[in-house]
Amino acid sequence: MTHRLSGACHCGAIRLELTLPRPPEEEVVGACQCSFCRKHNARTVSDPKAQARLLVHEPTELQRYRFGLAASEVVLCRRCGVYIAMLMTEAGKAWTTINIDALDERVRFIRPAEPRDFSSEAIEGRRERRKARWTPTELVGWPKA
Ligand SMILES: [Zn+2]
Repeated sequence: MTHRLSGACHCGAIRLELTLPRPPEEEVVGACQCSFCRKHNARTVSDPKAQARLLVHEPTELQRYRFGLAASEVVLCRRCGVYIAMLMTEAGKAWTTINIDALDERVRFIRPAEPRDFSSEAIEGRRERRKARWTPTELVGWPKA
């Protein structure tokens, strides 16, 4: 049985759907220790058996931000400022780790957030780890390139 969740930024320019293989109450919650996530105190969820869709209703409001090794990018709403997800793309495929607090069902993620520090990891290992652990994601309504 799958569990379908939905979410959005505050103004609705960017929406998301997340289909989990188990209830949110059982999903592992991550507290990424990167400098961006710490400034947001973000809790994130990623599950390679899940499926996500990021739907951009107003492409002019899509903000993408890269830092560090730039192996991934942050997806934010330019208008309302909400942090939606970390995104990695490669060869036409996309993977995300989603900011739990952008989901409508945020209160159902009850497991304690597990700190994760990948700052010492080399870029190639990082990309492989993300492909193995992040959620396969469909990008809908995204601007080209
Ligand atoms: Zn917004």
